[in-house]
Amino acid sequence: MAGLASYQGSCHCGAVAFRLLRGAAALAEYRCNTRTEQHFFCATCGVRPFGKGSSPRWGAYVAVSVHCLDGLTGEQLAAVPVAYLDGRNDNWDPASVPPSAGSR
Ligand SMILES: [Zn+2]
Repeated sequence: MAGLASYQGSCHCGAVAFRLLRGAAALAEYRCNTRTEQHFFCATCGVRPFGKGSSPRWGAYVAVSVHCLDGLTGEQLAAVPVAYLDGRNDNWDPASVPPSAGSR
C-alpha cells in the first residue's frame, strides 16, 4: 500500500517480534471483562507488544505498543499522536476528555 509505513518491533527480550515475524508460541493471552479483546504478552519478559479486538465504534483493530517498534528515533516517538480516553467510565470517545486532562 503506497503511503503507509511498515514497522517491525519486538518485546523486551526479543522472543516476540512484529508482523508476527516470530514468537507466536511465546505469546500469552489475557482477556478481560467481555473477553472479546485479546491482550498478548510475551510469556518470558511480560511485555505487551500488541492486542486485537473489535469495537462497535472502530470495528476490528490491532493495537501496537509503539515502544516495542524497532528503529524509531526519539523525534518520531515524540511526534506520535496521543489521544486520552476515559476508560474508567467506559467512555471511549476521545472528544469527551478535555485536553488538559492528559497533561498531568
Ligand atoms: Zn519477551
